[in-house]
Amino acid sequence: MTREVEDLLKRARGARGRLKREAAWLNTQSPEFVQAVVDYSRKRGIDLPEDVDTWSSKKLLRACLNRSVAAQVRLNPIVRDESFDCTHCGAAVPIHGRTARDHCPYCLRSLHVDDVPGDRASDCGGLLDPTSCESKSGGWMIRYRCRTCGAEKTNRALLDGDPADDVRVLAKLSSGTAV
Ligand SMILES: [Zn+2]
Ligand SMILES: [Zn+2]
Repeated sequence: MTREVEDLLKRARGARGRLKREAAWLNTQSPEFVQAVVDYSRKRGIDLPEDVDTWSSKKLLRACLNRSVAAQVRLNPIVRDESFDCTHCGAAVPIHGRTARDHCPYCLRSLHVDDVPGDRASDCGGLLDPTSCESKSGGWMIRYRCRTCGAEKTNRALLDGDPADDVRVLAKLSSGTAV
């Protein structure tokens, strides 16, 4: 249910008027879901009183979107640099050391594990196939599509590190050749 709560808070945090609309939606949800919103927020340090169940959905959502905590969730994901075995080509990929290693340097495949780069918050886990790449502000951005859910993602190519991304594969991809 955590995913649904995060989606709700993300939506409510959006443009003006969203909070009101999402509060109206929350009114139609089960008491268990409302409780999940309360639990989620308390776990993240939002101080909600015992009588929170007497609050309106709007008041609850506003408290849950407490600015500093909202910013923490959105802007400061824990970036994890981990070694892994590529599920596509089988290569053993070591950590990068400076930034999160989020794709295989040999076949460029990645896994759909992040909502925001590095946060490991997505529970899809599908294989991300590289579909194209383009030069952007002195580097390369690789575009991906998830084989499982179809989500489109981008990752920055890692041109430094040991090993760095295979530039021949990047060149192929940028010329429109499937890799
Ligand atoms: Zn690979
Ligand atoms: Zn996916």
